[in-house]
Amino acid sequence: GEKMPVYKRVMLKISGEAIGGEKGFGIDADTLAGISDKICEAYNMGVEIAIVVGGGNFWRGRSGKGMDRTTADHMGMLATVINALALQDALESRNVPTRVQTAIEMRQIAEPYIRRKSVRHLEKRRIVIFACGTGNPYFSTDTTSALRAAEIDAEVILLAKKVDGVYDSDPSVNPGAVKYDRLSFIDVLNKGLGVMDSTAASLCMDNKIPIVVFGLDRPENIIKVLTGEQIGTSIT
Ligand code: UDP
Repeated sequence: GEKMPVYKRVMLKISGEAIGGEKGFGIDADTLAGISDKICEAYNMGVEIAIVVGGGNFWRGRSGKGMDRTTADHMGMLATVINALALQDALESRNVPTRVQTAIEMRQIAEPYIRRKSVRHLEKRRIVIFACGTGNPYFSTDTTSALRAAEIDAEVILLAKKVDGVYDSDPSVNPGAVKYDRLSFIDVLNKGLGVMDSTAASLCMDNKIPIVVFGLDRPENIIKVLTGEQIGTSIT
């Protein structure tokens, strides 16, 4: 019969690259549509969904060579707003109610981030999309997903990447790279695995927030992860 979700409230982190499709740059309409269809399906399974979007398909702080880092990071946070609005539009065209909340105020475009309001939206069956990261330079949207997951009491972070899990070496360089099914956060930190930055990994470790890393090249993976199928890499 119908598969049931194993989570009630989840944090879905979508990297900018995942929205950029093959090119990994800008917004690929077909890719965005594919992802949105599956988020819509997940929503209809009754799961409360909060989303943090990245901005790497437009700009990353470290792209700004020779540029003041804080300025470059401000640009990166603005990039996440573009993705958040694109995702909001795609979800609402599928009749899923959403709210975008930004960590940097831009009230004409979206709500400012207010924790109690975001929780209320989730309870009222709205998908909440968090933009502008944490609002601070020197942080990443992976760290944002950990922070917001802790704040809104999400059970798990579903970390959607271009690669379908965590490998012992870069699978695009080393064809013999081996994928891990399970890992601990301390392993991620000690082995220097590049799946997320150490700030994000330690925040999850300290607050006991599990992560499932999986590939968004197949959007149906979102449903598989939600129904507890063993795909990608689980980090606890
Ligand atoms: N960023 C930031 N503070 C945050 C989150 C993001 O300064 O709390 C900036 C940072 O420059 C980062 C960019 O926004 O490179 C885009 O986010 P990220 O690289 O995490 O996006 P992703 O790799 O997930 O697409």
